[in-house]
Amino acid sequence: MFWEETIETMPLPDLQALQFERLKTTVARAANAPFYKKVFAKSGLEPAAIKSLDDIRRIPFTTKEDLRESWPYGLLAVAKEELVRMHSSSGTTGRSTVIFHTAADLDAWTDILTRSMFMTGMRKADVFQNMMTYGLFTGGLGFHYGAERLGALTIPVGAGNSRRQIQLMRDFDTTVIHIIPSYALHLTEVFEELEVEPRRDTRLRIAFLGAEPHSEKTRQRIEEFYGLKAFNSYGLSEMNGPGVGFECQCQAGLHVWEDNFLMEIVDPDTLEPVADGMEGELVMTTLRRAGMPILRYRTKDLTRIIAGPCACGRTHRRIERITGRTDDMLIIKGVNIFPVQIEKKLMEIDGVGTNFQIILERKGYNDHMIVRVEVAREFFSGDLKQLELLRKHITEELRSDILITPRVDLLEPNTLPKTEGKAVRVIDNRTD
Ligand code: AMP
Ligand code: ZN
Repeated sequence: MFWEETIETMPLPDLQALQFERLKTTVARAANAPFYKKVFAKSGLEPAAIKSLDDIRRIPFTTKEDLRESWPYGLLAVAKEELVRMHSSSGTTGRSTVIFHTAADLDAWTDILTRSMFMTGMRKADVFQNMMTYGLFTGGLGFHYGAERLGALTIPVGAGNSRRQIQLMRDFDTTVIHIIPSYALHLTEVFEELEVEPRRDTRLRIAFLGAEPHSEKTRQRIEEFYGLKAFNSYGLSEMNGPGVGFECQCQAGLHVWEDNFLMEIVDPDTLEPVADGMEGELVMTTLRRAGMPILRYRTKDLTRIIAGPCACGRTHRRIERITGRTDDMLIIKGVNIFPVQIEKKLMEIDGVGTNFQIILERKGYNDHMIVRVEVAREFFSGDLKQLELLRKHITEELRSDILITPRVDLLEPNTLPKTEGKAVRVIDNRTD
């Protein structure tokens, strides 16, 4: 039974009562974690002081920095022996944010993914090709277990190797794919090269698009080219990963599973709740996690709540597709990158000057990152081999940290514009 009618169509007052019970449990559990012990002591908050859902506003926010500083185990609310899985956010090989799960946590996560997939029309008879990276990133294993629980034949192919992806789709009659939208666009070119037409030569009918922002236009292009229905899947590792917000067959906003998460939308400057339906930063609290509960997590993602009931009958409220971020995090090919990572790496390299710029371009369907770096003047006189070696060295150093390969352009000192005040480090020329 993957359509959990009692939960999915629960009247709002009942849903809120359930949320309140789970919030109390969550706060009491969190109080066991070293990080929250300190937070509660500092703010004088007792878990017993949570007497209504609104009382959540008495709890301080949790940020990505808090998670980083609590590396590795500072947010654990249970003994380490209780844990069975670790995941992390995409994008860095260094100290990113790590999330731990107990067996019950994984069970609950699988549950909401199964529910999400079922909601779009996927069924047991489907063949599911999971084209997301397996490993620490949540998109692989998260969906994998959800699809298996649903009973669909699951192909854990992972990301990349476009020709093989297409071959698998054809040979095994794949009907459902999970794919990063930019990769889905890129793959259209490979289909064309191979003269394979997905509408004619495959049985694809559903795609889950996740891990990076994309527009309605991108969705439409993907739907048209592949001849399928594409559903937006939103999640973040701190809240398990995928399964936080998911579109139903109405494709009119993403249902947030409110029996699993408590959502708030706040003004990113004042951190006060915005008026109903207004855009703001999404703040999330886990309601079913035992290993590592997180309270009032600032996602930095911008969205708004869509008013009114959904035609599908589910009562869990919907959010608009993510429209942007309140920080400078870039997402390239599904990988999260902060400009400061690039700065840190560059500044460690001998010969690198003080100024650099990141330019993002879209060629065809592919995103490219160009890093323009000023280097010491001596590299430009005499033997230019040294310059080429430095360029290769910088490229490799960046690749090893941000996990994508940028094109590196080396420039003489004082070439890049100097700005008074905040440097403009990123120029994003990608448009839809
Ligand atoms: P990670 O923790 O690596 O899973 O990255 C999570 C972040 O990816 C989110 O906070 C969003 O900024 C972004 N993201 C994930 N799914 C989507 C989506 N469907 N639309 C827009 N952004 C997304
Ligand atoms: Zn709906």
